[in-house]
Amino acid sequence: MRYISTRGHAPALAFDDVLLAGLARDGGLYLPETWPTRSAEEWRRLRGLPYAELATEVMLPFVEGALTRAELAALAAETYAGFGHPAVAPLVQLDHDLWLMELFHGPTIAFKDYALQLLGRLFDHVLTRRGERVMIVGATSGDTGSAAIEACRDRAAIDIVILHPEGRTSEVQRRQMTTVLSSNVRNVALQGSFDDCQDMVKAMFADVPFRDEMHLSAVNSINWARIMAQIVYYAAAALALGAPDRPVAFAVPTGNFGNVFAAYAARKMGLPIAKLVVGSNRNDILDRFFKSGEMKMDGVVPSLSPSMDIQISSNFERLLFELCDRDADRLSALMAEFRGTGRFSVTPAMHRAAAEIFASHRLDDEATLAVIAETRAATGQTIDPHTACGLAAARAHPAGPGIPMVVAATAHPAKFPDAVERATGWRPPLPPHLADLFEREERLTVLPNEIGAIEAFVRESRTNGGPA
Ligand SMILES: *Cc1c(COP(=O)(O)O)cnc(C)c1O
Repeated sequence: MRYISTRGHAPALAFDDVLLAGLARDGGLYLPETWPTRSAEEWRRLRGLPYAELATEVMLPFVEGALTRAELAALAAETYAGFGHPAVAPLVQLDHDLWLMELFHGPTIAFKDYALQLLGRLFDHVLTRRGERVMIVGATSGDTGSAAIEACRDRAAIDIVILHPEGRTSEVQRRQMTTVLSSNVRNVALQGSFDDCQDMVKAMFADVPFRDEMHLSAVNSINWARIMAQIVYYAAAALALGAPDRPVAFAVPTGNFGNVFAAYAARKMGLPIAKLVVGSNRNDILDRFFKSGEMKMDGVVPSLSPSMDIQISSNFERLLFELCDRDADRLSALMAEFRGTGRFSVTPAMHRAAAEIFASHRLDDEATLAVIAETRAATGQTIDPHTACGLAAARAHPAGPGIPMVVAATAHPAKFPDAVERATGWRPPLPPHLADLFEREERLTVLPNEIGAIEAFVRESRTNGGPA
């Protein structure tokens, strides 16, 4: 399998190169040259497989030429053995044809673990084979940092330094990062804002001699391997609910459009996915696009579902490329217009093509609290604010009689206890593996908002593969 860039001016690459590259050299995102499809009979044969085995079957065509089946199977088995539920992504029934898919059984209790836990192992595998190492640097406002740290901790070929704004993350978020004491993990509490953290990371990547000396890398949300790993749970849910002989639909709380794009990819692979419903909070650029065909940038306001507080959805470019019939020049022109003017419109035909598959819904904070309260009262299930946006979207756009609708539950309610308590009067406890989080030892380094100090710290943080 080879991968092409959405912008059309980067060389086609194999899976391992796409994994390490992240963004394409022409600024585009990588997609498989062709979608590997399976017939109904082939899908039927995958029903009932344990999660890690299904993961191997679903991902194998994407890694072909870079990993053998045995290598992929070993990495998948090790990855998902560490999850807190034997079904890995269990389904919970909420109503006659409404289901929750729980994606919070990984170490940091949000769905990003499902891809990042595998990504850390894939990086390690490919780098070790090449005799290379990388230094992963990243900025976090709280959530993605812990998932990245958990993915990279104790990996032989990886060091990781994560910058968070000092005093501006929640205590749970900070402790999920700073209590990881592995020798290849460093946490920086930057004396500044989240934007300052991001600027520091950008400045390190822009410092080419430093970037090359450190072998800087990132594990951000546009990495193709993250999408690939996320396809698996959509396939698992669809097969469990009767696919390929019965269609299913998904509702997905959406920010950068990576998770819902994985569902779209599952559909491209031949699963009968009748509808994809995008859930937004008050930062509703995507909801406005699916309703009008116009993408128009707006300011970001903080909400109860912070992982969906986005101005631009970076992975949307992948869908746009498909809507352009993979015409990279047309796609590039739209992206250039967006960069220049903060808006673009697709043709009526493209908008119709999107609306055939996608629907969308927006939920403000007040309604989010109401959905959490109603769901707990009616079903006994407690959902987090992101999941509430997905659930409201599902109810607003039922897929039709006999078509089960599955809502992606992207975070454990205990990850957002303040909002859940406000809605229900009940404070959800952390799951057992995190129950002693507040007693654990923390390690972090406070640094000034100054590139010289940050780069010196990153340089000292390299373990060079030596002993712990
Ligand atoms: C990251 C995140 C999302 C948004 O997912 P995208 O792939 O960026 O669309 C939704 N919910 C939670 C809890 C998240 O952490």
